[in-house]
Amino acid sequence: MTTTTPSESPAIPLETPTTHGKLIKMAKHAGFCHGVKKAVDKTIDTHDTHQTQDRPTYVLGQLIHNQQEIQRLEAMGIHTVQDLADVPDGAVCVIRTHGAPPELVKLAEARGIHVSDATCPDVRLVQNKAVELAQEGYTVVIVGKANHPEVIGITAYALEVDGAKVVAISHPRDIQDALKDLPRRRIGVVSQTTQMEDSFFDMVKHLSMVAKELKVHNTICPATFFRQHAAAELAHEVDVMIVVGGKNSSNTTHLAQLCVEIGTPAFHIETPEELASPEITEALNKANRIGLTAGASTPDWVIHHVHETLNAQF
Ligand code: SF4
Repeated sequence: MTTTTPSESPAIPLETPTTHGKLIKMAKHAGFCHGVKKAVDKTIDTHDTHQTQDRPTYVLGQLIHNQQEIQRLEAMGIHTVQDLADVPDGAVCVIRTHGAPPELVKLAEARGIHVSDATCPDVRLVQNKAVELAQEGYTVVIVGKANHPEVIGITAYALEVDGAKVVAISHPRDIQDALKDLPRRRIGVVSQTTQMEDSFFDMVKHLSMVAKELKVHNTICPATFFRQHAAAELAHEVDVMIVVGGKNSSNTTHLAQLCVEIGTPAFHIETPEELASPEITEALNKANRIGLTAGASTPDWVIHHVHETLNAQF
C-alpha cells in the first residue's frame, strides 16, 4: 500500500488495494478546501463563544453545500435559515463562504444581530475585482449562474458603484440576450470561483467577439483549479470515478462532468449507501481501478465512509 497522502485531502492513501483485489486511487486534491474548513471552524467557534451568553447561532443559507455536514451542525445547535427575517433580533448570524449582499449585512446589524463573516477570501477577491471593474466603467460580466448565492453577492457589491452595469452569464449562447440593453464596448470579466476552467475560457473567447475592449480577471479559485486538474488526471488512470459531494454543490457537479467529458464513467454520490444502486454496483464490479474524488464542500468523514465501503464491498 502506498502510504503517501494527498496534500489538501482527507488523509486517505493515494492507492488502496480492496478486499476483492481491485485498486482504489484517491485524487491528489479532494474534499474540504481552506475556505470551507475555515468557515466551518469559525462557525463552531462563534457558536461556542455566544452559547455561553445565550445567543443562538443561525447561518444564512447552507454554510456549505453538503446536507450531511449541515445536519451535523444542526445537532450542535447551529441552525440554517434561508431568510434574514428568520433570525431573531440580537442573535448571531453567520455569513457563509459564498458571501452575502452588503445591504443584507447592514440590515442585520441594524437589528442588533451579531454578524460573523465567514466569506471565503477567494470570494472576497472576486467581489473586489467586480467593484474595481465597475469603478473603471466596464460593463461587468460575471461568468456564473445568476441565481447562485455567490454570484448574487458579487452582483450586489458591484451594483453599489454609481452607474454600474452588471450581468451574470453562464453560457455563450446567452451573451447576446444578456447584453442587449447594456454597453458592450468595454467589458470586464470575472468568474464565479467554482466555474469550470474550459467554460470560462470559452466564454472569454465569445465575449472578445462582441467587445472592443475586454479586461479579464480569472477568479476561479486555486482550490477549484487543483481539484479539477487532479480529477481529470485520475480519470485518465481508472475505469470508473466516484465523485462524492452534495448534489447542489457546483464544484462537485463540475468534477463529475469533467470526468464524463474525458470518457470515464463517473457517478456523483452524496453518501456510501448510493453505491448499492444497481447501475453503480455494476460499473464498480466491472472496474479494476476505481478513482475517488470529492468536491471542496465534502467533509473528510463522508469521504472516509465512502472509501471504507468501496474497500469492503468491491
Ligand atoms: S471552493 Fe474556493 S472559493 Fe469556494 S470556499 Fe473553497 S477556496 Fe473558497
